[in-house]
Amino acid sequence: MEKPLRIGVLAVQGNFREHVAVLRRLGAEAVEVRLPEHLDGLDGLILPGGESTAIMRLMELYGLDDALRAFEAPIFGTCAGMIVLDRDHLDLVDIGVRRNAFGRQVHSFEADIDIGHGDEPVRAVFIRAPWIEAAGDDVEVLAEVDGHPVLARQGRILVAAFHPELTDDTRIHELFLNQIREAASSVRA
Ligand code: GLN
Repeated sequence: MEKPLRIGVLAVQGNFREHVAVLRRLGAEAVEVRLPEHLDGLDGLILPGGESTAIMRLMELYGLDDALRAFEAPIFGTCAGMIVLDRDHLDLVDIGVRRNAFGRQVHSFEADIDIGHGDEPVRAVFIRAPWIEAAGDDVEVLAEVDGHPVLARQGRILVAAFHPELTDDTRIHELFLNQIREAASSVRA
């Protein structure tokens, strides 16, 4: 049998437990990451939603900001995790993000988003969500809400403005795991 993927979930603040649960449901080994050494040997990393200011501050406190800049495996940032990866923060993906973009008063909402390939739409949960305001040429937009990109990929980095860990639909996490497997097989080929 194929060796399970070993995926870290940044566990300093926010929705990390829910991501760990989805990863385990999909047969991956999930590791809570609180210190730089927890990144060793990971096949990928998820940055969860929460509060980006708090996540950034805690990452700096533990040296995880530099450790992440040196981390080479695929990363998936959701909501606050997407903000942390943007041009104004770790600058690991060439996007400008607007925080609380759907309006502060719109605390949360759900929307069906089209992820292409003729697939059933994904029910996406947005909580004080950001959207992608500007994207470089290497960024591939995978889904939009009202014309605003909310799911995108640049090379090994995947970002979502919503919370795929809060529904029973595991397809967005599967997309990330498949991206990791494809990257690994193209290295072997
Ligand atoms: N509004 C939060 C921020 O700016 C993100 C919200 C979330 O992750 N659900 O950090």
